Amino acid sequence: MYNFTKIVASIGPKSDTRKTIRDMVVAGADLFRINFSHDTGAVQGRKIDLIRDVAAELGKPVGVIVDLQGPKHRIGDFETEEHYPLKVGGKFTFDDDPAPGNSKRVNLPDKDVLQSLKVDDRILLNDGKIEMRVESVTKHKVIATVVRGTEIWSRRGFNLPDTEVATSPLTAKDRHDLEYAITKRPDYVAVSFVQRGADIAYVRDFIARRSAYPIKIIAKIERPNAVERIDEIARAADGIMIARGDLAVEVPYEEVPAITRHIIRTCRMMNRPVIIATQMLASMVDSEFPTRAEISDVANTAYLRADSAMTSEETTVGINPVNTVEKMARILSYSDKDTVANPYDWSRVDNVPENDWSRSVSSMAYLNHAVAIVVFARDADAVAQISCRKPDIPIIAVCNDSIVANQLCLLRGVSSIYDEQLFGMRDGFNTARRFGIHTGKLVIVDDEKISLRTLD
Ligand code: PGA
Ligand code: MN
Repeated sequence: MYNFTKIVASIGPKSDTRKTIRDMVVAGADLFRINFSHDTGAVQGRKIDLIRDVAAELGKPVGVIVDLQGPKHRIGDFETEEHYPLKVGGKFTFDDDPAPGNSKRVNLPDKDVLQSLKVDDRILLNDGKIEMRVESVTKHKVIATVVRGTEIWSRRGFNLPDTEVATSPLTAKDRHDLEYAITKRPDYVAVSFVQRGADIAYVRDFIARRSAYPIKIIAKIERPNAVERIDEIARAADGIMIARGDLAVEVPYEEVPAITRHIIRTCRMMNRPVIIATQMLASMVDSEFPTRAEISDVANTAYLRADSAMTSEETTVGINPVNTVEKMARILSYSDKDTVANPYDWSRVDNVPENDWSRSVSSMAYLNHAVAIVVFARDADAVAQISCRKPDIPIIAVCNDSIVANQLCLLRGVSSIYDEQLFGMRDGFNTARRFGIHTGKLVIVDDEKISLRTLD
């Protein structure tokens, strides 16, 4: 089976054994997300070891994405674990006093946040179930009016859709996690709550100072200011994740599908892979079958020609992570076949210049009814460029670098093979046959050399 739309499976307490990871790969998982919002250090490192072990056993590239928590804001503790009542129209104070909170006030542990808030900014707590609006700001406290919500309690997370937070893109925890993660050589690092292109440059520099290993960076788009600066962020990053969970809290939820399409289009023009994330099969946390709406959502990942669909709680704490990946793969595989049967509308192809080499590759494939593109991949970016033309035929990438082979797992329509003995395209035919392609025309790409060969 050849899958076009890739699957990123998040690993958590219900899926962190060698057997489950192996079964998820067999079921169709192409990459795994290790979420540093939860465990840290060696606990996470062990998961990376297991993935590498399974990939070696199966002889198949598998990608590892380390996801950093980022500046996810939380309020402090209250005097008790009880829920404290809130009154719409009433006042509530956030301050820098570490004393436990009560029905009038609570501590904001993060000083940057207190200093960034402005009058009229919204504070959305507990996934947006509580909304407050800033009334006044002084050096040590912010007084807000309750707009929505009935109760508040310890350590609720909150989002600040209207606030440009003057904070480093890496918290102290992120630095610590990233220092460790680098030593485990992940293929990608995902940066949460990115606000600007410079945030990505900062993380790239942080990594480069510590390791020469060419880790790629994924920007998670989950804030309105990131949506506004998507061009700048996509340019700076190596890939984009549409993090619909926090995004749907921070922007009006009805805008999320339109934003998704806009980001996919932008990424296509900028040759960046894009992952659609969160609640794809959410009901499968405690069900063996997805809802009809979820089936449609997963299928749309294929129809929108995004690169990857991601699982979250479904595979971290759900009742059956392997079944979830199986169902996702089944939906994608059917929808992928349908996109191949109904190829991309070439009259609406992106704004890539006529003379762009990746466009030459895909138009050669298209005009000659080629059945596959076989490319010698010296790095992942060149293959991303071909993949972003959405040729709707398999792209088979031969790599002599295992990180490149793993990174390519994220890209739509790309299958990678790792062979350290190869230094250029030797035999596109045999490579294609390994993927079950036995007749038809192949477009063979090795750097600038693009040729058309007939396989029979
Ligand atoms: P998270 O990111 O699961 O790390 O919060 C994804 C999202 O917000 O959708
Ligand atoms: Mn998030």
